[in-house]
Amino acid sequence: MQVPAYVEYEKATSVEHALGLLAKFGPEARILAGGHSLIPMMKLRLVQPETLIDINGLSELSYVTVDNGRLRIGALTRHAQLLDAAAAGAHFAILHDAERVIADPVVRNWGTIGGSLCQADPSEDLSATFAALKATMIIRGPGGSRTVPAREFHTGAYQTVVAPGELLTEISIAIRPGGGSAYEKVGRRVGDWPVAAAAVAVWLDPETGGTITDAGLGLTAVGARSFAAAEAEDFLRGAAATEASYAEAGRIAAEHCNPASDQRGPAEYKRHLAGELTVRALRRAVRRARQQPGGEP
Ligand SMILES: Cc1cc2nc3c(=O)[nH]c(=O)nc-3n(C[C@H](O)[C@H](O)[C@H](O)COP(=O)(O)OP(=O)(O)OC[C@H]3O[C@@H](n4cnc5c(N)ncnc54)[C@H](O)[C@@H]3O)c2cc1C
Repeated sequence: MQVPAYVEYEKATSVEHALGLLAKFGPEARILAGGHSLIPMMKLRLVQPETLIDINGLSELSYVTVDNGRLRIGALTRHAQLLDAAAAGAHFAILHDAERVIADPVVRNWGTIGGSLCQADPSEDLSATFAALKATMIIRGPGGSRTVPAREFHTGAYQTVVAPGELLTEISIAIRPGGGSAYEKVGRRVGDWPVAAAAVAVWLDPETGGTITDAGLGLTAVGARSFAAAEAEDFLRGAAATEASYAEAGRIAAEHCNPASDQRGPAEYKRHLAGELTVRALRRAVRRARQQPGGEP
C-alpha cells in the first residue's frame, strides 16, 4: 500500500489565517485544496510537505460571480460548481466545454480550479482555457494582493509564480462584447487527460461579424509556450472569419508548438491534433459569437 510520509495538519479558518499558517510553517508547508493531485503525489513520495494547510473550509474562496464587467471565480470553486454556474457558460461557453471533459464526476466534485492551476501540469485543461481567455490571476501574500496575467502564471512544468507564503485566491476574466469561445480535446478515453486540446476565444467586429478583431488561442499538452499559440493569434487579428483563416491559424499553431512523444502518442500526431483542434474550436467559437448580437452563448 502507498502511504504518505508523516505530515502535520492544520485547518485554516480564513484567508488571513491560511496566510498566517503559511508564514508560520515556512516553505515546507503546502496548501491542501481538493487533494486530487497533492495526495497521490505524497503517496508516491514525489512531494513530502512537512505541513498541510487545509483550505477546504474557506467558503470565501468558493464563488462564481459577475461583477464590474468581469467573471470572477474563487480559487476554491470546485470543477462541478463551475460546470453548474450558468453565468460562466453564458459569458464563456469554453469554461463549460472544458469542464465537461475534465476527469470524471468524482474528481470534478472535489477538485478545485485553484488546485488545477497551481498543480501546473502541462496537460491541465484549464491552463490553456484561461490563457485563451486572457484571464487574470489574483494572488494574496503577507504584503497584500497582486495580479498576474494567466500567460505569466506558469513558469514551467509543475511551477508557478505563486511563492511560498502566498495563496491563489481568484481568477477573473473581462467580459467584452462580440465574443465567442470553445474548447476541443482529444483524449484516449472518456475522463482521461488530453492527448492534445485547443482553447479558442474570438471577438468579432460588431458591425459586420465578419472580421476577427481579437483572438486568444490556447493549447494543452503540446509544449506551447505559456499554453498559448501567440503567432496564430497575431495572424487572426484583423483576418476574415473564414475557413481559410481557420486553416492558416491551425497550420501556424501546429508549427509553433513543441509536443513530446510519450505514452499518449507520437509528437507528430499531437502536432497534427494541435492544428486540427484549433480549426474546430475556431469554427465553433465564431459560430457562437455570431449567434446573437452581443456574442455568446
Ligand atoms: C483520475 C484523475 C483524472 C484527472 N483528469 C484530468 C483531466 O482530464 N484534465 C485536467 O485538466 N485535470 C485532470 N485531473 C486533475 C484534476 O483536475 C486536478 O488534480 C485537481 O482538480 C487539482 O485540484 P485540487 O483541488 O485537487 O488540488 P490539490 O491536489 O489540493 O493541490 C494541487 C497543488 O496546488 C496547490 N494549491 C491548491 N490550491 C492552491 C491555492 N489556492 N493557492 C496556492 N496553491 C494551491 C497545492 O499545494 C498542490 O501543490 C485529474 C485528476 C485525477 C485524480
